[in-house]
Amino acid sequence: MPQKHDLVIIGAGPGGYVAALRAAQLGLDVGCIEKEPALGGTCLRVGCIPSKAMLESSERYDQLRSGLDDHGIRLGRVSIDLEALQARRAKIVETLAKGIAGLLRKNHVTRYMGHARLTAPDSVVVEGPEGTIDVRAERILIATGSVPATLPGIAFDGERIVSSTEALTWAKAPSHLVVIGAGAIGLELGSVWRRLGSKVTIVEYLDRILPGMDMEMANEARRILTRQGLTFQLGCRVTGASRKGRTRVVIEIEGRDPVEGDRLLVAVGRKPNTERLGLEEVGISLDERGRIPVDANYATTTAGIYAIGDVIDGPMLAHKAEEEGIACVEKIVTGHGHVNYDAIPAIVYTHPEIASVGPGEEQLAEQGRAYRKGVFPFAANGRAQALGEIQGRVKILADAETDRVLGVHIIGARAGDLIAEAAVAIEYGASSEDLARAVHAHPTLAETLKEAALAVDERALHI
Ligand code: FAD
Repeated sequence: MPQKHDLVIIGAGPGGYVAALRAAQLGLDVGCIEKEPALGGTCLRVGCIPSKAMLESSERYDQLRSGLDDHGIRLGRVSIDLEALQARRAKIVETLAKGIAGLLRKNHVTRYMGHARLTAPDSVVVEGPEGTIDVRAERILIATGSVPATLPGIAFDGERIVSSTEALTWAKAPSHLVVIGAGAIGLELGSVWRRLGSKVTIVEYLDRILPGMDMEMANEARRILTRQGLTFQLGCRVTGASRKGRTRVVIEIEGRDPVEGDRLLVAVGRKPNTERLGLEEVGISLDERGRIPVDANYATTTAGIYAIGDVIDGPMLAHKAEEEGIACVEKIVTGHGHVNYDAIPAIVYTHPEIASVGPGEEQLAEQGRAYRKGVFPFAANGRAQALGEIQGRVKILADAETDRVLGVHIIGARAGDLIAEAAVAIEYGASSEDLARAVHAHPTLAETLKEAALAVDERALHI
């Protein structure tokens, strides 16, 4: 006998499980299928959360080791216990995954464990530890996320040539870690292992780091990270990588000397996960980049089947997947739902953090949009001085005619938290004048945003 639901969701990552919770709130009978024993998807198991746990531990170690002398704090020898660090990471993931299981139970979402395959527009077969289960639903939502991508000529071996998944679990710091790709994941994991003792070389195809991010911020990030000890080799086309002996990896670069290390992290992006999903059987074709095409309601070309998150177009970010999941089920049930793609923040959790929302200067120039710009340095902010976090700046880009905030770019301490104010400003169509007139508590890092907003009109007070 098939199991029947109003909605079946494939994948319990941030897109899938949040959609399940919202659909249950809206009164649907929901089934959620996940092939992994732990819920939470890439984000919780091998992405956002474990990487941030490791960034936090390694940053504290780095700070203690490089000294609190300025604060008058004298320490003896500081050492790191990688086993304990890794156990902490695993515990955080376990706690949060159990929390999601509890939330699904509380909302009466039926959980199926196993690999899901579509067999008809209203039917999914789940193969898991409990055998084969036939699940039927009027509507099916695909939220199967993404998997690490690699380059032609480079195959993951899980040991020396790895993706971010393995680079989160090492029990010993590599002596020389080579990272291909200077995007968020490469910089974050490169920073983690540099702080834990590795020499780190980041090889990037473009002649800049952080592709897609505002150039001024990316250049500042490169200067700061270089000072911290990361080595960048930019403008390098990697043509292959292979093992040399038991412990070495050689990375071939077109027209340049090869780079040799003991571990290679390939961080060149991720690809949509549609493996053995049965899409052909239900008449869904992928686009040129392997994504599932959807319309503005997240509906695929097959009636009754929807898709959201990393498996469709757009930035591969957990909060983007969540918002799409919510909007998709709200549209199904109420006819209304909304994601503002102009107000999706992106954060790189290096130290200092790098955060942005909306277009950068290069994108605005490409669009031919006239803008005014206000910049304020962290060094001129009282709280930043008290924290000893004076690197970086805030940049606000506002429409030249209407003053509406278009883009905000921050490099500096807690940029990832500060960007929330900018996202809200863009969401509500605020002007830089609105931001400048809002009362910001003193002394806070958020005052840098107020001052940058004043700077748009050339009336910053503290520079
Ligand atoms: P996923 O999280 O990939 O979830 C999909 C789920 O579907 C998985 O659990 C998978 O097992 C399951 N599944 C797939 N196929 C099937 C099937 N056939 N049957 C059953 N189950 C299936 N994003 C941020 O916003 N902030 C960050 O700081 C951040 N850091 C990251 C760090 C790293 C190292 C990585 C790798 C990613 C990071 N991301 C970050 C990206 C973020 O993890 C993804 O954008 C997000 O997880 C996408 O959510 P999703 O629900 O679309 O898919």
